[in-house]
Amino acid sequence: MTFYFKSLLLLCTFFSVVSCKSQTGIPAASAENQSIVNDTTFVNIKDYSPDFVYDMKYATSDNFLKAKVYDCAECFLRLKTVKAIIKANAVFMKKGYKIKFFDCYRPLDIQKKMWQIVSNPSYVADPAKGSIHNRGGAVDITLVDSTGKELDMGTPFDHFGIEASHNYDQLSKEVKKNRKLLKKVMTQNGFNSFDSEWWHYNLKSALTDKVSNTKWKCD
Ligand SMILES: [Zn+2]
Repeated sequence: MTFYFKSLLLLCTFFSVVSCKSQTGIPAASAENQSIVNDTTFVNIKDYSPDFVYDMKYATSDNFLKAKVYDCAECFLRLKTVKAIIKANAVFMKKGYKIKFFDCYRPLDIQKKMWQIVSNPSYVADPAKGSIHNRGGAVDITLVDSTGKELDMGTPFDHFGIEASHNYDQLSKEVKKNRKLLKKVMTQNGFNSFDSEWWHYNLKSALTDKVSNTKWKCD
């Protein structure tokens, strides 16, 4: 084999490795950051998938705090959370649905701000302990159909009452079916449900990650 062909072979091997990597559907956020991105890096999910719907409630005053606590509506999560939820969303999309986000990673300073407004551990996690949202492993979500309409989950997001619980039984068949679908696919993809909130899911492998105060830039 001539040097030329050896080089060509090497080059092909290199590019086939690169293309295999891209086949995972999880491209690096940017070439510049490629070397420093790992599973616990905070990333903007929009850089990894165009297939989600967003209604970031805390970037508006349409939430139980009646206060806008984020400067802009972005969904940042640790990369491993992004990978897991992209897999879950692919399952929902085959069934004609998509995940809609209400909240994602929440920097600790934002948690403190929320705690100042509502200092009640039944509604807001005490920033002294931190929540999985502060660890980049929790998502608040629902499902929308092909027209963008939310599936009926029995209560709105952040409804603080027994009706929002997975254990509450006085719900229509339709609501039970919708919650069951959300829970089944999320738990099959590495997430735990949270008994009192049908919309909240924790990535199991993120429970021991550190609380963070990393912030994203707003335009
Ligand atoms: Zn939550």
